[in-house]
Amino acid sequence: MKKHNFSAGPSILAREVIENTANAVLDLNGIGLSVMEISHRGKDFQAVMDETVALFKELLNIPEGYQVLFLGGGASLQFCMLPYNMLNKKAAYLETGVWAKKAAKEAKFFGEVNIVASSADKNFSYIPKGFTIPADADYFHITTNNTIYGTEIFEDFDSPVPLVADMSSDIFSRPVDVSKYAMIYGGAQKNLGPAGVTFVIVREDVLGKVDRPIPTMLNYQTHIENGSMFNTPPCLPIYTCMETLRWLKKLGGVKVMQQKNQEKAALLYDEIERNELFMGTAAKDSRSLMNICFVLKDEYKELEQEFFAFTAAKGMSGLKGHRSVGGFRASTYNALAKESVQALVEAMQEFEKKHKK
Ligand SMILES: *Cc1c(COP(=O)(O)O)cnc(C)c1O
Repeated sequence: MKKHNFSAGPSILAREVIENTANAVLDLNGIGLSVMEISHRGKDFQAVMDETVALFKELLNIPEGYQVLFLGGGASLQFCMLPYNMLNKKAAYLETGVWAKKAAKEAKFFGEVNIVASSADKNFSYIPKGFTIPADADYFHITTNNTIYGTEIFEDFDSPVPLVADMSSDIFSRPVDVSKYAMIYGGAQKNLGPAGVTFVIVREDVLGKVDRPIPTMLNYQTHIENGSMFNTPPCLPIYTCMETLRWLKKLGGVKVMQQKNQEKAALLYDEIERNELFMGTAAKDSRSLMNICFVLKDEYKELEQEFFAFTAAKGMSGLKGHRSVGGFRASTYNALAKESVQALVEAMQEFEKKHKK
């Protein structure tokens, strides 16, 4: 049966990306060795690293002065590395969910944290507006896509201080004006590759400004100086990221992807609004194109388990909402085909016919 993978993360990858990775695991480019069993410093893996960095720069149109790094530790280690390297006295954070809170929590180990605005009052179902970014902060941190609640920031803010974004779950889903950011980072496992590698895009001139000594492994400059090979990088996940970026380039890049993502999201949001049984949980002007959250209306709440079973029987997986929101979450990352969204919409319609009071 055709599977429809709506998992929030680790999540769907293009079939050809998985197949090409499987081939490279068996034999990289016909060299007779697996990508897993060669030196990261040899020319065969260096070519993989170089192409991955080059595709990042090309597809995101990254200007001069930025470095692209591939590190371990997940986005969660960046919550700590960022303030270690960039927070002298005070940093500003926009609190749009659990990931944003976790990022701010680490910054408190290094200095004062100013939460400029929060949507905690309504369980993070919207993106706050009309906040002021303090001009004396060392940086301002945002989480562009809030994977758990299905809200997203689409605007590349003008910030009076260096802007830093966790783009774990929406990187490469749309064009980004990288020049407005001092740093963009994320775990690969939502929209780019398998778990195990973290990307960091950083403007070099924002580094080297804190007074504290930074342990070698946690210092961005170490990784810049060593081309992400100070220690052994996560070679296989990086290889898969490269395959995803080749696939993305072949499809036409981030602008084409944005169009596809908008079409998929519109299809599902329209059905959530039309359908008598369901309702969305995110504020309309903040709705994510990547994670679409919805619940059964109160009068139909008892049908929740039945809807999971109903969709599972149709080959759909990963639809369970995060435990802090409940209900359903359909993640519609780049690699998810429109036909999978169409299949979910049809399942919702069929379910409505069966149960509408
Ligand atoms: C998944 C996720 C994280 C956590 O990433 P790890 O790589 O598991 O540390 C952080 N931020 C956002 C927005 C996420 O979606």
